Amino acid sequence: MELYNYSLENLGELLDKGEISAVELTRSVLERISAVDDTIGSYLTVDAEGALIQAESADVRRRKRDNVTPLTGIPVGLKDLISTAGLQTTCASKILAGYRPEYDATVVSRLRSAGAVITGKLNMDEFAMGSSTENSAFQKTCNPWALDRVPGGSSGGSTAAVAAATAIATLGSDTGGSIRQPASFCGVVGMKPTYGRVSRYGLIAFASSLDQIGPVTLTVADAALLLGVIAGHDACDSTSVDLPVADYYKRLKNDIRGLKIGLPQEYFGAGLDSEVEVLVRSACGQLAAAGALVNEAISLPHTDYAVACYYLLATAEASSNLARYDGVKYGFRAENTDGLLDMYRQTRAQGFGDEVKRRIMLGTYALSSGYYDAYYRKAQQVRTLITRDFEKVFADCDVIVAPVCPTPAFAFGEKVDDPLAMYLSDILTIPVNLAGLPAISVPCGFTKSGLPVGLQIIARPFAEETLLNVAWQYEQLGGWSRRRPEIKKKAV
Ligand code: GLN
Repeated sequence: MELYNYSLENLGELLDKGEISAVELTRSVLERISAVDDTIGSYLTVDAEGALIQAESADVRRRKRDNVTPLTGIPVGLKDLISTAGLQTTCASKILAGYRPEYDATVVSRLRSAGAVITGKLNMDEFAMGSSTENSAFQKTCNPWALDRVPGGSSGGSTAAVAAATAIATLGSDTGGSIRQPASFCGVVGMKPTYGRVSRYGLIAFASSLDQIGPVTLTVADAALLLGVIAGHDACDSTSVDLPVADYYKRLKNDIRGLKIGLPQEYFGAGLDSEVEVLVRSACGQLAAAGALVNEAISLPHTDYAVACYYLLATAEASSNLARYDGVKYGFRAENTDGLLDMYRQTRAQGFGDEVKRRIMLGTYALSSGYYDAYYRKAQQVRTLITRDFEKVFADCDVIVAPVCPTPAFAFGEKVDDPLAMYLSDILTIPVNLAGLPAISVPCGFTKSGLPVGLQIIARPFAEETLLNVAWQYEQLGGWSRRRPEIKKKAV
């Protein structure tokens, strides 16, 4: 097997034993990028030169046994909204084309000090707004399992890269489902940590009260290893929480007999694809057979209001966060304009795509003085109700299990002209962000036409250990991780 096909965990062992070097591994991944990424389109920027330099120093560290971690020498790709000093960071937006941050995001400095090799920056929906990666201003990313379908979004580049083995692991960000939904579509593991578990310092903001960075990997063990490196308190992010970070990897194999699992009836309602439902229910059956206690009738009664609530709060926050792109401080500036105001106007008109403009307008409207109480305040109150729904369920359940998305990957163009249909594809992931909870998508099978489907597991705040433990146990039972698509070259 080629080196790029192995899991992070296995590669760590091979590197440890000196059977392979980080340089060999990095070359293998860079060659894979050259071979298939013109077909997949996962990368916006590949830093081949930088990656090889980092790989050489990882080899030195391993040889000297100097501060070796499971990530030392492992090629990792980053969603292009995670700031990398000196390396272009665009958010897949024209308005940030050519922007090179002055500093590394905290997750990046943690990866660097762990000795990881940064391969480059991955495609996404512009400013993480979308569910298909079709909103990228630069390129399309194809689903490695079916090239005529979307990889999901907004972290579609991050999940397609892991599926296509153009990175061993990647980081994505999840505001309303953007790690879990594309992980489900691409047949990989994608995890959203508890809000506050991972520093957002240097993550370009979309909706600050919802955004969270998380790992995208081939297996659950890999996610545990990667989370262990990026998690933890950061003085640079006042919303990061000062709680101990457990050894997630060590606890993966804990026994799940007697563990209480709830299935929310609202997540199995109308609109759920029947093949997705069968796969998710059969995964629950396997967990029950392994000794977990499954309650099929828990209720999260405010689920119906989650999408509306999210699209008021997320757009309100986005309208405020995106006010900083005025053509003065960062990236793109419109030319030949008539004075300052016109420069602002034209820079935004030309620099932002349609979806971003739509959200800035929606958010500005929801925050405007006459409507603030009716929309923004109301949405905050609904958010509290949704959070309480989960609190009630978790009084009696250890984890919640559900589908990630009502459907498998859809075709290009199917939803892009109908924003509401696109927004509804996040109906099963958004409540988790509103409540700030940790959740994961683990592969749980394929549809008859060969499209992957993910199982969503949701846990109590900061119970990442339990989450990963259940996910790992299910992964052993299901056996759906580690599958690789055969990538057929696009006809030219
Ligand atoms: N698809 C959702 C949206 O468009 C979620 C995005 C995300 O999680 N970044 O807002």
